[in-house]
Amino acid sequence: MGYLDFMKKSDGWSEKELLDYQTKRCKEFLEFVYKYSPYFKGFFDRNGFKPSEFKHLEQLKQLPPFTKENLIKYNDEIQTNYQFKKLFISSTSGTSGQLLKFWKNEEWDSGTRAAIFRGYSWYGVNPWDRNGYLWGYNISQKEARKIKILDKLQNRFRLFSYTQSEIEKFARNLKGAKYLHGYSSVIYEVAKLVNKSGLKDDYDLKMIKGTSEKVYDSYQEEVKKAFGLKIIEEYGSAESGAIAFECPEGNMHIAMENVIVEEEDGQILVTNLLSKSFPIIRYRLGDSIKMADPNYKCPCGRAHAVILDVQGRLGEKIIGKVHEYPSVLLNIFFKGITTKHGILLNYQLRQNFKGLVDMDIEQEELGNGPILEKELRNYFKDDIEFTIRYGQNIHKMDGKLKNFITTLKN
Ligand SMILES: [Zn+2]
Repeated sequence: MGYLDFMKKSDGWSEKELLDYQTKRCKEFLEFVYKYSPYFKGFFDRNGFKPSEFKHLEQLKQLPPFTKENLIKYNDEIQTNYQFKKLFISSTSGTSGQLLKFWKNEEWDSGTRAAIFRGYSWYGVNPWDRNGYLWGYNISQKEARKIKILDKLQNRFRLFSYTQSEIEKFARNLKGAKYLHGYSSVIYEVAKLVNKSGLKDDYDLKMIKGTSEKVYDSYQEEVKKAFGLKIIEEYGSAESGAIAFECPEGNMHIAMENVIVEEEDGQILVTNLLSKSFPIIRYRLGDSIKMADPNYKCPCGRAHAVILDVQGRLGEKIIGKVHEYPSVLLNIFFKGITTKHGILLNYQLRQNFKGLVDMDIEQEELGNGPILEKELRNYFKDDIEFTIRYGQNIHKMDGKLKNFITTLKN
């Protein structure tokens, strides 16, 4: 059976079936790792951890969490010395800018894709269906040509520059497409332009999927107005593979066949059961998450555990006169304003001096000013002085949207 067929079958499994499968796969995986990864052999031994005695997922807690810094530092020894038939190179950047490079085995690659494509099937979308892709880069004609060839193979078209004529062309192309995906902040920006310039059409989209970035509630209304659907969320990373996919009921279900997710001090730890070439075990991805109650049952009927919210990377620190704040607090702060006052704001903060922060807000002031200022005062007291500008264009379309930019050393 292919991976996707398997994932479609296990889609209907009970919680017990999923947990039994995870436990069995986890034991096999840990035994493999112990045998073939020089680093993890030592790591398991040092922690008195015996894969042969593994019977229950709770036993994973005997191992300390692993960081990206460690994956970079012990890279060669972590890579297993098993002779895989096929390996793919993968790379991603670390927090301090170093590159993490590793090899992925075939199963890792296919299993990750299967988890994503199973999610597509929940929306009646086939991977080969015509699709529009939005990302955050302006690139040269020459570079664009190369990508266009690859896109053609995947029945995909994308936006290469944010000029009015290109956006119009993209909007026209979208008419024959089944799904739209990409950076959620860019989907939002294009939606605004489509609404403003009357490009709106009768689209036949079945799914709009945000990747690589948090999907903010403040994007949804504009996107729905432009394209008829809200953005659903896919959550994962290069190291962890696909972790979760949002179901039509709006809940992110964990791909439990591939990954084990733990929540520790509000942060996610991931074990990737497919990562035999470069083991990812209790890996601290750096995101703050909120899991649903273990007894929660999603109306869609799937028994796969639910992540309620990914609040994003802890991020760099906002430095007050006395205290320091991880920038992820901003998400929580603005979400609080939405809950309390029903106001959705898009924001970008810049800090160049201790205790002073410039805050750009996309929306016009419209009487929001006193509310925002009052809430900032409640939250940060006198520790940070904010300079607020309303009606600002916060997306520079040169990559992902950054909500906090600092020149201070963390
Ligand atoms: Zn569901």
